[in-house]
Amino acid sequence: MLVGRRAACRLDRDAIRTRTSAIFEPSQCTDQSLSYVSSARKKPSGGAGGHGDVMATHVFLSHSNRQAANLLLNALPVSDYESLQTNLQHVEFARGQQIQREHQPIDHLYFVQRGLVSLIRTMRDGRTVEIGAVGLEGVVGWSAAFGISNALFDAVVQIPGEALRLDRKTLSVWLERSAPRMLFTRYAEFSIRELGQHAACNRLHSLEQRCLRWLLIAADNAGSETFQLTQDFLSMMLGVQRTAVSVVTGALQCAGLIHYLRGRMALTNRPGLEATACECYQATRESLRLVYDNVDRFGAARSA
Ligand SMILES: [Zn+2]
Repeated sequence: MLVGRRAACRLDRDAIRTRTSAIFEPSQCTDQSLSYVSSARKKPSGGAGGHGDVMATHVFLSHSNRQAANLLLNALPVSDYESLQTNLQHVEFARGQQIQREHQPIDHLYFVQRGLVSLIRTMRDGRTVEIGAVGLEGVVGWSAAFGISNALFDAVVQIPGEALRLDRKTLSVWLERSAPRMLFTRYAEFSIRELGQHAACNRLHSLEQRCLRWLLIAADNAGSETFQLTQDFLSMMLGVQRTAVSVVTGALQCAGLIHYLRGRMALTNRPGLEATACECYQATRESLRLVYDNVDRFGAARSA
């Protein structure tokens, strides 16, 4: 039972535009996100930055497989991609897994193939908020391409998935080619623009709008309208108390936009969600079109 559901429905009904029947698959909540909540309040342990437990295997993608791969890799000329692919390692991400730690050396870059990685700022009192996210469109650790040797933010997996990992030493050789260097520059511009969008969104848009934006981006990168999500994790991403998230998700569920139970989130009305979310969701898509000609593939991924 969602806390304050009836009251939230009464307060927010006018802000919700559409209704639909709910689709829901019951599931047990694994609550792995709490592993990061705990670790974020500990002092950094040093070393390689907490990603040594990632399982890695070499992959050799055929040209046809690139159609389902990371957008940045897909945007490369074939010759530039082929020069890199034997150095890529396939890794799987678990929810709540920390793959980069602020101030620690960037040993690898992660081209996200499926799932979503949040960039997190942790305050001295342990409170956290998401200040950016990397999904199918990008790469975690891109700043290494510009000589920044240490991670700028914590990077934590919010939607489980997989990525192609590249050793940083290989990156520097590969970037001697003009096409990868140009693409990384365009992606860096997008990332900085997104940090600004996130900052403005966190300050100016309502919790409900920010929550909707977050859910839409999460679904896009999960490749499904249904995915695992705990309210603890969502409150950590949005930088608010869990009770506030409960009220908002209760209102959205009451309006037929989502269905949420036992750690399982289902988006049940995509048009209604996009119409109610803040402008930032569409702004991100517009920014992506400046980077990739094949940005429509990003949207297509959500309905696969
Ligand atoms: Zn916004």
